[in-house]
Amino acid sequence: MQHVHDAVIVGAGFGGMGAAIQLNRMGIDDLVILEREDDLGGTWHVNRYPGLAVDIASVTYSYSFEPNPYWSRLFAPGAELKRYAEHVADKYELRRYMRFGATVDNAQWDADAAHWVVQLRDGETVAARYLLTATGFLSQPNTPDIAGIESFAGKVIHTAAWDDAYDLRGKRAAIIGTGATAVQLIPEVARVLDELTVYQRTPIWVTPKVDGDIPNAVQRVFARLPITQRVARLANSSVLELLMISAVLHFRQAQVLNRAAARMAKSHLHRQIKDPELRRKLTPDYDFGCKRPTFSNTYYPTFNRPNVRLETTPIDHVEADGIVTTDGAKTEIDTLILATGFNIWDTNFPALEIIGRDGRNLGKWWRENRFQAYEGIAIPAFPNYLSLASPYSYSGLSYFTTIEAQMRHMQRLFGELDKRGATTFEVRDDANAKFLEWVTDKLGDSVFSLGACSTARSYYFNQHGEAAILRPTSTINAFREAGSFPVDDYAYA
Ligand code: NAP
Repeated sequence: MQHVHDAVIVGAGFGGMGAAIQLNRMGIDDLVILEREDDLGGTWHVNRYPGLAVDIASVTYSYSFEPNPYWSRLFAPGAELKRYAEHVADKYELRRYMRFGATVDNAQWDADAAHWVVQLRDGETVAARYLLTATGFLSQPNTPDIAGIESFAGKVIHTAAWDDAYDLRGKRAAIIGTGATAVQLIPEVARVLDELTVYQRTPIWVTPKVDGDIPNAVQRVFARLPITQRVARLANSSVLELLMISAVLHFRQAQVLNRAAARMAKSHLHRQIKDPELRRKLTPDYDFGCKRPTFSNTYYPTFNRPNVRLETTPIDHVEADGIVTTDGAKTEIDTLILATGFNIWDTNFPALEIIGRDGRNLGKWWRENRFQAYEGIAIPAFPNYLSLASPYSYSGLSYFTTIEAQMRHMQRLFGELDKRGATTFEVRDDANAKFLEWVTDKLGDSVFSLGACSTARSYYFNQHGEAAILRPTSTINAFREAGSFPVDDYAYA
């Protein structure tokens, strides 16, 4: 007979590791963590393009219970995050649960046996009482559907599959995309390329970046007196929280702050780009916050370099040796870099086929109804399943605030199961409906509902026109609810 584990976690990034740590804390330790990549770290394992760094200050972008006093900069480079992930896996002895190269195709609830059967691509199945998916939001790379792109004869690199062995020196390259990834990448590669053409469809809001090395002396203080780093974390998180709540979520009440953020970005652009035509092209025509803004001190000045050109005429098609825009002009290139982001709404919600009670298919149900998840974590008709990368789960700030709120939710839920001597849980329909109504109502005050967002092409919005990723509350509210939701919002058996 097949062994039934306590839990299967899909994804060995920070979300999956946080879930495993939480289950361990509750004495649940027969776990399997299935990871399609060849190592742990999630986004910080997959992404390693030049310029990669966190965009939330490192004191905040880490588990609060596992501070790292040794971040080298205020915004640590990606490689440090990958090392931090390895440190966490070692310290909390999580590697013993992990299986790499394990791509999950689907998961099905077996109602008679009251467990999940998880099917791997290689045909193997794994059974577990609980299923937790921690597959992230930005994990399915988006390859643009541009005519002729497959006929390009040069080198194609997606930023989520960077080829470290490929030498960019002396090359004539194009970058498609101007999202947060491109903003980090462009200044780095422009230094070594012979020619760079950046194809922009939608400009991004860019504010100044306050960054710098964290001196060794400060690192030593953080290590010896952890309270000092906790204070720094609190200060940073409070500022982020304030900005998010006022400028984005309470657009109705605090539009003036949203406008101030846009003005700050515009004057940043003004200081760094003198050519009015170039400035016009780089200026967004949608409200600040409709899509994720970013910051950089080096992005705009890169367009002043003689070897860099911003192209805003739409791409018509790609040929073997270049890109042709709709005005018929062709730019010859030998390297095509796709900074085209990730597909969230078609392939990521959920990232694998999940079939719950009575044959309910999660992806189909979400698309035919609305994207929804009670407290951003549980869905009716999916017993013993927690979806960690869910609609309305992400605080929009440090992802660790989301992870830790979800760990707290797990603590309360599994604690209640234990107390009742139960083995299955399922969120009730009415509790889920009430939560959806509540977040929908709250979104009514946000920039997503009231701002001018129609030209933003923001991945926050889904095919139903709803900004269904962010939880439209403070992180304090998310954390409080995670520790105090009515336990009867779930049914237990
Ligand atoms: P993104 O924000 O989705 O940007 C993708 C870019 O590609 C956009 O400019 C998009 O243009 C363009 N694009 C896509 N398909 C295209 C097509 N067919 N033709 C022309 N242009 C096309 O992706 P991203 O830059 O990878 O960033 C994704 C998210 O990752 C960020 O929002 C952020 O949350 C996260 N991120 C974080 C960090 C960090 O520091 N921690 C760094 C990088 C990224 P349109 O806007 O017109 O669609």
